Amino acid sequence: MSLVVVGAAGRMGRMLIRAIAQTKGCRLVAAVERPGSEALGADAGILAGLPSLGVPVTDDAAAAFAGADAVLDFTAPAATVAFAKLAADAGILHVVGTTGLEPSHLASLAGEALRTPIIRSGNMSLGVNLLAALVRKVAATLGTDWDIEILEMHHRMKVDAPSGTAVMLGEAAAEGREVELAQARVAVRDGITGAREPGAIGFATLRGGTVTGDHKVIFAGAGERLELAHVAEDRSLFAQGAVKAALWGRGKPPGLYSMADVLGLDTL
Ligand code: NAD
Repeated sequence: MSLVVVGAAGRMGRMLIRAIAQTKGCRLVAAVERPGSEALGADAGILAGLPSLGVPVTDDAAAAFAGADAVLDFTAPAATVAFAKLAADAGILHVVGTTGLEPSHLASLAGEALRTPIIRSGNMSLGVNLLAALVRKVAATLGTDWDIEILEMHHRMKVDAPSGTAVMLGEAAAEGREVELAQARVAVRDGITGAREPGAIGFATLRGGTVTGDHKVIFAGAGERLELAHVAEDRSLFAQGAVKAALWGRGKPPGLYSMADVLGLDTL
């Protein structure tokens, strides 16, 4: 399978290049960075700490997508929307790991998914997707007298909050309760906030050091607490998940897919 990595010089971009090199049946055919990036012209293999792959980093995404099978995209929301259009124009699968997407970005992706398959997940790991399925089930089982709080910690360089994974876990909890996350979500508390609103789904964000990604979903009842947690130890697992998604998505009809589809967790 011929794969393109966009955001090739980023933390995840380099991981993706390594994951592709380690996966039988996959080949990196192009690596894309933003115009003006210092990485332009560099060999993608060298950039990722591998031997040369003979693939120079380019800023011409349209040319890079022509003839490829899929693009792996862990960049930034506006870039991902632009890549979705180019991927649909080229008729290639788009695997999106970018987080911080606003409703307008998601609407653009849904539009492009009418033309080409898009697999999007705020977290590409098996453990987190399993956790989301468990959270949905627990939230559906426990009543609203159990308060739901989601705590996450990430490295100091992360630019969006709460994390895409925390939002994904919040959506799973909201689905379990059959409510809209937008209505239940409380992302910031500061000062005299008043008592907790019944049914709220709260988020708390910690940032520091080099933490890959810690998430905990707390169900707090009267006199007891249930806590479900996931710790990501190495970001290569997200890259391996993205490559797995690309292999799964090959030949799928246009549409929006999730990692739960890839991992077969929908029936949980
Ligand atoms: P990063 O800043 O290290 O890398 C992003 C890269 O994208 C940069 O090299 C940047 O130059 C490039 N880029 C931005 N705009 C571009 C454009 N228009 N064209 C080409 N390249 C462009 O960030 P990161 O830590 O690698 O994370 C990237 C994204 O992936 C974030 O949204 C992060 O939250 C998300 N992420 C998702 C998962 C997951 O499993 N879904 C896991 C880790 C990170």
